[in-house]
Amino acid sequence: MTWKIHKGDTVHILSGKDRGKQGKVMRVVTKEGRLVVEGLNIVKKHQGKQSGTRQVGVIRMEAPMSASKVALVCPRCSKRARVGFRFLEDGRKVRTCHKCHETVD
Ligand SMILES: [Zn+2]
Repeated sequence: MTWKIHKGDTVHILSGKDRGKQGKVMRVVTKEGRLVVEGLNIVKKHQGKQSGTRQVGVIRMEAPMSASKVALVCPRCSKRARVGFRFLEDGRKVRTCHKCHETVD
């Protein structure tokens, strides 16, 4: 399977508590089919003294969410779009937007 969402992409959340929001992809865990979106899917995590950091107590962090819960927001037309693929003349495979048919990469 070719991965459709890349690090740095803006995505639209389709389901869950952050449904309807948009954020930037910070990390993609390809193997698990999950990704981390900046500022979204925040979980509170208790951090103890044993961790070695000075910050003790509850910290907030982004938890990975299933890639099936997000849609790419096309940087060209700013709409959330399904992604297709196209081969360039030089053989490179690029992503294309189903809405505006522009190359996303
Ligand atoms: Zn587009």
